[in-house]
Amino acid sequence: MPRYDLHCHSTHSDGLLSPSAVVARAAARGVDVLALTDHDEVGGLPEARDAADEARIALVAGTEISVSWESVTLHVVGLGIDPANAALASGLQALRAGRSQRARRIADALAEAGIRGAYEGARKFATRDGLVARTHFARFLVEAGHAREVKDVFTRFLVRGKPGHVSHAWASLRDAVGWISGAGGQAVLAHPGRYKLSRSGLRRLLAEFGDAGGEAIEVLSPSHTPAQVAEFAGHARVFGLLASGGSDFHGPGESWMDLGGLPPLPAGLAPVWKDW
Ligand code: AMP
Ligand code: MN
Ligand code: MN
Ligand code: MN
Repeated sequence: MPRYDLHCHSTHSDGLLSPSAVVARAAARGVDVLALTDHDEVGGLPEARDAADEARIALVAGTEISVSWESVTLHVVGLGIDPANAALASGLQALRAGRSQRARRIADALAEAGIRGAYEGARKFATRDGLVARTHFARFLVEAGHAREVKDVFTRFLVRGKPGHVSHAWASLRDAVGWISGAGGQAVLAHPGRYKLSRSGLRRLLAEFGDAGGEAIEVLSPSHTPAQVAEFAGHARVFGLLASGGSDFHGPGESWMDLGGLPPLPAGLAPVWKDW
């Protein structure tokens, strides 16, 4: 059985390793099929593709699109996309432009809480000009001594009700799924266990996601407890969705799980790769 890891990040979004270093690490850790899924970005894929050819593993062209749905922010992973597709490319471009605006507002919100220089500070950690993520602010806040580590930042800053939180309008669910399927890819609802949704909210989301053309959900994610893995396996069966999984690796020492660290999918699920 090949080993799949269908969600991870590089320096083209908020990961710590270059695309080629991510691919080399995945290969060394026994991954046979890797999807690079940078936030709202596909720029790392050519380098990742060359590295995958060299390491003799399969690379799936991916991205992770930020979505606003009802009052929550969701992530939708696209797998097997054509990164040159015009509608997808312009959609992602608009999201990155929104990120730059949001970064200014996050810095203003932190300044109101007495933390100065956050815009420049976060930008210093961002390796691509157009892509500033909260992760980059988190690294700045750790460096400036406001938190011990990145995970700690997300309990005290940058989240609802805490300093540095701003609301933001991302893509609509329908647009994000449409861009992915229009670019020949499969849309996967990322880490559903991370969203603060009621039972009925989650059912509504899964139904809407399927109606929009969404094909799969991440059953396996380091964000999920064993009970949530079982729960989402059940939802995949009931909603007729394929099952996916990925480490969501961002970098050594900063992630819940290293590349290739996932267990096998629970039995009886149709995997997202069944027709690959
Ligand atoms: P953004 O898309 O800019 O809002 O940033 C979201 C990113 O922040 C996620 O992709 C993660 O990399 C990171 N993040 C969010 N919550 C946490 C957390 N609790 N611990 C560590 N990183 C987090
Ligand atoms: Mn991230
Ligand atoms: Mn995510
Ligand atoms: Mn991710």
